[in-house]
Amino acid sequence: MSFDVIVVGARPAGASTALLLARAGLRVLLVDRARFPSDTLSTHQIQPPGVALLRRWGLLDALLAAGAPLVRTARFDPGPAVLEGAYPGPDGVLSPRRTVLDALLVAAARAAGAEVWEGFAVTGLHVTDGRVAGVEGTPRGAGRPVTATAAWVVGADGKHSTVARSVAARPYRTRAARSGAFYAYVDGLALRGGEMYPRPDRLGSAWPTNDGLAVAFLSVPAHRFAQVRSQGLAAGFAAGFAGLGDLGERIAAARLAEHVRATVDLPNTFRVPYGPGWALAGDAGLVMDPITGQGIANALRDADALAAALIAGLGGAAPLPAALAAYHRGRDRERRAMYRLTTGLAAFGPDRVGRRLYPAIADDPAEVTRFLGVLAGLVPAGPYFGPANLLRLTVARRRTGRRAHPARWRGGLDVPEP
Ligand SMILES: Cc1cc2nc3c(=O)[nH]c(=O)nc-3n(C[C@H](O)[C@H](O)[C@H](O)COP(=O)(O)OP(=O)(O)OC[C@H]3O[C@@H](n4cnc5c(N)ncnc54)[C@H](O)[C@@H]3O)c2cc1C
Repeated sequence: MSFDVIVVGARPAGASTALLLARAGLRVLLVDRARFPSDTLSTHQIQPPGVALLRRWGLLDALLAAGAPLVRTARFDPGPAVLEGAYPGPDGVLSPRRTVLDALLVAAARAAGAEVWEGFAVTGLHVTDGRVAGVEGTPRGAGRPVTATAAWVVGADGKHSTVARSVAARPYRTRAARSGAFYAYVDGLALRGGEMYPRPDRLGSAWPTNDGLAVAFLSVPAHRFAQVRSQGLAAGFAAGFAGLGDLGERIAAARLAEHVRATVDLPNTFRVPYGPGWALAGDAGLVMDPITGQGIANALRDADALAAALIAGLGGAAPLPAALAAYHRGRDRERRAMYRLTTGLAAFGPDRVGRRLYPAIADDPAEVTRFLGVLAGLVPAGPYFGPANLLRLTVARRRTGRRAHPARWRGGLDVPEP
């Protein structure tokens, strides 16, 4: 059993990587210990850059047909001002249930020619001459271990990646887990597009998903997780939404369609995503708190970039180490500012920036759209939260007939460093 590439993990990062490699004609094995359709502990906003990739890969229509609506407007209500408007560009936010999304991606990878082993748990890597050359694992129900070999192994096996651990992929920019998350499916909750309510001690949000339901998400500081839980999951969840605009009242008047899920297993880290015979994609290579809902789109972006690097490298069009180095650099360049924004938000506390920024832009539809573009990963967060832009949006807009010079700005407005 020998392949060009073995991909471990068959959700957004892995199934998409396998799909793209198989479409390029590579012999691909995709394995997962789960059997699909399979749920996982995650809400499911896909940010517009991820939606754009699903469209490009020809999968968006099938997802939309499965019933989750594309949301093109959002309401961001931090308290003193409400920012309500449209996302930039043609693609909004889509929140398909993971049972739907992940099964669709696996089916697409299989249809593209990838061999798929469901119910196969990878227990270790096959290493020859100091480089990864395959995987070892056990098919569920069969006692006999199996070894499959390949030119390259992709670890798309999530935040507790077996592949990353086996190759000792170096972590960096690690931040301790900062938040705890709760979510539930709500029946009969009318929404104004996507809704987000950040507060110094919590964040609530709600998005329409499949089956006419909404998925409601509550994030609290990690040290408050046990206290919210101790009220009973349903009661603690409902109490967490109280006072978030009128969302709490609307949730209280609606019906929980399923039990409340909760987790405090929310690490934040980058890992070096490649080495001899191996590469990482999705949460295995870079995981961040779900408070900004970036993980799925990030996984899809990784799949796109990593598949391109492997196709070029294994096909001889470019030296593979250079292609993978470019994948690493591109990923970090693209995500660094959002990681900083995300870990800053998940640390909770006073919002120094927002206090001035939100009231200054709330009445300007173009600026609201731009801000929503930052949250969606469409507008780079780094320059947006840089002093020059914040000065433009706050101080300069308040002064009439006089432009303040960015260099004179001493306010230190920036995304709070965690
Ligand atoms: C509470 C919560 C809410 C979230 N909400 C959002 C959101 O709204 N939007 C968003 O974009 N992101 C969200 N995320 C993050 C999102 O879930 C992840 O970023 C995303 O699932 C990462 O995809 P992935 O393919 O990299 O890994 P995963 O989805 O974790 O998939 C990894 C796969 O690898 C398999 N696997 C692992 N180890 C092995 C092994 N040894 N052998 C075989 N198979 C293995 C697993 O079975 C799994 O199927 C949320 C996360 C949490 C915890």
